[in-house]
Amino acid sequence: MAATNGSIFAAMLQEFDGAARILNLEPGIWKILTHPKRQITVSCPVQMDNGEIEVFTGYRVQYNITLGPAKGGIRYHPGVTLDEVTALAAWMTWKCAVAHIPFGGGKGGVICDPTKMSKREIEALTRRYIAEIVDAIGPEKDVPAPDVNTNEQIMAWVMDTYSMHVGHTTTSVVTGKPIELGGSLGRREATGRGVMIVTREAVKHLGFSLKGATVAVQGFGNVGSVSAQLLAEQGAKIVAVTDWKGGVFNQNGLDITKLLAHVQHTRTVDGFPGSEPLPAASLFSLDVDILIPAALENQITIENAPAIKAKVVIEGANGPTTPDAHRQLHERGVFVVPDILANSSGVTTSYFEWVQDRYGYFWAEKEVNERLEAKMCEAFNAVLQTSLKYKVDMRTAAYIVAISRVATVTRMRGMYA
Ligand code: NAD
Repeated sequence: MAATNGSIFAAMLQEFDGAARILNLEPGIWKILTHPKRQITVSCPVQMDNGEIEVFTGYRVQYNITLGPAKGGIRYHPGVTLDEVTALAAWMTWKCAVAHIPFGGGKGGVICDPTKMSKREIEALTRRYIAEIVDAIGPEKDVPAPDVNTNEQIMAWVMDTYSMHVGHTTTSVVTGKPIELGGSLGRREATGRGVMIVTREAVKHLGFSLKGATVAVQGFGNVGSVSAQLLAEQGAKIVAVTDWKGGVFNQNGLDITKLLAHVQHTRTVDGFPGSEPLPAASLFSLDVDILIPAALENQITIENAPAIKAKVVIEGANGPTTPDAHRQLHERGVFVVPDILANSSGVTTSYFEWVQDRYGYFWAEKEVNERLEAKMCEAFNAVLQTSLKYKVDMRTAAYIVAISRVATVTRMRGMYA
């Protein structure tokens, strides 16, 4: 395997190449799908609270827009690079294609440290960044969303800035907005709900049931906590949870509703009454049926993968498993549901938000959840059938599904020259 020299985009290409080879993808389409369509770099001057002017560098990458408008979050972080944003935009392309929604892949990022900025400075930066890329985004061009360090409020400013430029309110330019200004019911829980659905489908395929199955979850934020709660409602026993501070364990199952209340109070699962403390590093070696990494990237590595006893790993987080750890798990028969399938319910519900905004007609939460259930089952089955057909792991199968969908439409549309 070629060295990636720290390039996230090179790592993405390795995953892509493995699936493209199996598909016998023709060289021309291969070239198109491995090049970003547009990479925009902008400088955003902002007057800071102390009166001085800072200039922040921002990026927006539209990796591929063959299936529809680019879709992907905006991240605010000091470590943002064009390489990272390009790789994340590529992953969004494959995720939207696996989810079978009419979007291409995009991503944005601004090099900044929002923890050291006031709310006014963050608003000014957001408005200037959006003003700089305003011609490139829009409901039919590119639809941003929240990502690391961006939230509903920032999406409201994105919507407002874009609307001021075009002269009318355009809610469908961005997703992840507050419900009051065009957000979708069910969006907050969507990713955890999708994790629950694919976990249920995975165990069904493997011949066991969620009832009484034991589960360990890394991370108890949006994705981890909702996944844990919904899996517990399906009869699974959540025996262990870890977060940034520590971990908790109860062989008979943790009471997730009470754990949520404890976290609201203390901001950590640590010290939850009626549980034993669990060192975070022990989570992966627990004797459980299902393991759900739902915190950060690169958590399951070649060092800790051999100790994993779970039969199923569901990647709630983005990129939680390194490629060599993934190979190790696959060789030992561990069934891994990859991130671009397992957490695609977040972007699927963003698609529902965009549809509702464009309709100007909003669905009841029950309807959102029913549509999500149908989309996630469709995506899971497409990937599973592909994995059985080509005798490959679920990650390679997800890439095969994604690449074939984008490649088919690329061929149909033909070459414009
Ligand atoms: P979040 O910030 O709400 O929660 C993250 C959780 O991880 C927190 O409980 C935090 O304490 C915990 N954590 C941090 N460091 C940890 C460590 N070293 N060990 C164990 N736990 C640790 O984030 P989120 O929205 O739940 O996102 C989690 C992952 O899921 C990320 O990879 C994100 O990109 C991915 N994801 C999220 C969504 C979404 O809709 N929220 C959609 C797709 C993918």
